[in-house]
Amino acid sequence: MTATTRRTVIVGGVAAGMSAATRLRRNDETREILVLERGDHVSFANCGLPYHVGGVIPDRADLLLQTPDTLAARFRLDVRVRHEVIAIDRANRTVTALDLYTDQRSEIGYDELVLATGAAPVRPSIPGIERAHTLRDLADMDGILAVIRSASPAVILGGGFIGLELAENLTHRGVDVAIVELADQILPPLDPEMAAPVAEHLRRHGVRIRTGVSAQAITADAISLSDGSTIRADLVIAAIGVRPESGLAERAGLAVGPRGGVRVDGHQRTSDPHIFAVGDVAEKIDALHGGASSLVPLANTANRHGRLVADVICGRPAHARPALGTAVVGVFGLTVATTGSNEKRLRATGQRYRVIHSHPANHAGYYPGAEPMSLKLLIDADTDAILGAQGVGGDGVDKRIDVIATAMRGKLTATDLADLELAYAPQFGSAKDPVNMLGMVADNLAAGERTVQWHEVERLVEDGATLVDVRTPAEFADGAIPKAVNIPLDELRAREGEIPSSRVIVTCAVGQRGHSAARLLSQIGRDVANLDGGYRTWAAGTS
Ligand code: FAD
Repeated sequence: MTATTRRTVIVGGVAAGMSAATRLRRNDETREILVLERGDHVSFANCGLPYHVGGVIPDRADLLLQTPDTLAARFRLDVRVRHEVIAIDRANRTVTALDLYTDQRSEIGYDELVLATGAAPVRPSIPGIERAHTLRDLADMDGILAVIRSASPAVILGGGFIGLELAENLTHRGVDVAIVELADQILPPLDPEMAAPVAEHLRRHGVRIRTGVSAQAITADAISLSDGSTIRADLVIAAIGVRPESGLAERAGLAVGPRGGVRVDGHQRTSDPHIFAVGDVAEKIDALHGGASSLVPLANTANRHGRLVADVICGRPAHARPALGTAVVGVFGLTVATTGSNEKRLRATGQRYRVIHSHPANHAGYYPGAEPMSLKLLIDADTDAILGAQGVGGDGVDKRIDVIATAMRGKLTATDLADLELAYAPQFGSAKDPVNMLGMVADNLAAGERTVQWHEVERLVEDGATLVDVRTPAEFADGAIPKAVNIPLDELRAREGEIPSSRVIVTCAVGQRGHSAARLLSQIGRDVANLDGGYRTWAAGTS
């Protein structure tokens, strides 16, 4: 390094680290850029690992997006694999790197240091845990593939995104799979009534699901669970979440938050002005509460923040925005997506919020191939701000959640969604897109129309409300909420006298006919609320 050449050292060479390195080079041709990666590979597609396990991505080489040689050729990056940074000397601005090939240590000076060390899978400290695999890198994937022939039955500890992807991909390989999840539902980022259809879908594809139990011990061919039962397991994979790899930062005395993420400001700067942190290792600015306190271990954020830190280092104006945690997963053809806060969190924080459930088709019903989806929108009851959304269904769920995430980022209100001008043709959507419809319902709620939620119905009926189901008799006979009376919407005008004058709750299949019924009844002076999301949401929530 000459007296004038600046050197940036980046620790970790995957999503965040390599985004930072390549952007730095595009910003500055003169700088020395050194990437130190402990593993054998840089810039590999960790999000693709489950799909190679399942054979969906047949060629392992497709997961290797770049090599040190290609990065040197295109970007003049000095990328050293199998180099682990073991210490940071902040006073002298050096790192100690251990060459894992030769066991040699070297001191390397830096002007700026970027920590992009990611997050490591959590391994519960239970007897026999050494038999459990995890999935973070290619070596882990190879380890699973090496035993896959004798891996049935397999038990996945954790029903989160990676657990579900593995469940599907192991099933593709003919492995009998069970998921064990400590929470009382799979997919903890979702609310229970949204997660229930996903669990049902997995069961239909042969995946066994045990919720509300944890693994206590792993033996040679089984796992003992907290409810006293045992479950056979030739293969065990722990997919119970990740923890930031912040040990290096902590040992160097950098500020680390309570959940292990490195504290950063809006410029991804740590408590040391010469050291930055990006990706899974860094805390994110929480979208609900502000302040850097949440962990969002997702690839999109890692890539964006990697780019951002390069701009900050080069003096370009850049500032990290609050992280919404927008995420999507596919399971056996079902799409599950989420952004922002869920209802569980809002309830815990005491925030005043409104909820909308809807069950539209992904495109016009008359065009062949329409698939149902379920959407949930959470709204600030005081400001009409969008707080979060969840979607489960077929094609088009990802698009709706992405539109809502974009609206949240642009600070549109829930009511604004009604007025979004979205592309439409029958094979892609509806003239009133599902996102527009959410906005229209939000508008109605903001104007004072009342709904009740699936979990409130039983208590309200016990307290004397009359539950009127306005679906057809055939639909009603197929399944109905206990104590509901059936008055089809088209007969409601003629038969409204049959409804006692107490409080009325109307319900239908998904909430749409219920809305018309509620409008009719309220305009003739009834005290009425519509069951949000109708029978479908109630059935999912109480299943
Ligand atoms: P990582 O990608 O973990 O890279 C950190 C690197 O730092 C590692 O290679 C590590 O070896 C290296 N390192 C650590 N400590 C040191 C050290 N002291 N010295 C040198 N090197 C070090 N996200 C999504 O948004 N969508 C998905 O579909 C998705 N699927 C996923 C599937 C799987 C199986 C996994 C494991 C993750 C998935 N993710 C997904 C998460 C996503 O991959 C991560 O959020 C992203 O990779 C984080 O990037 P990162 O650069 O911060 O960390």
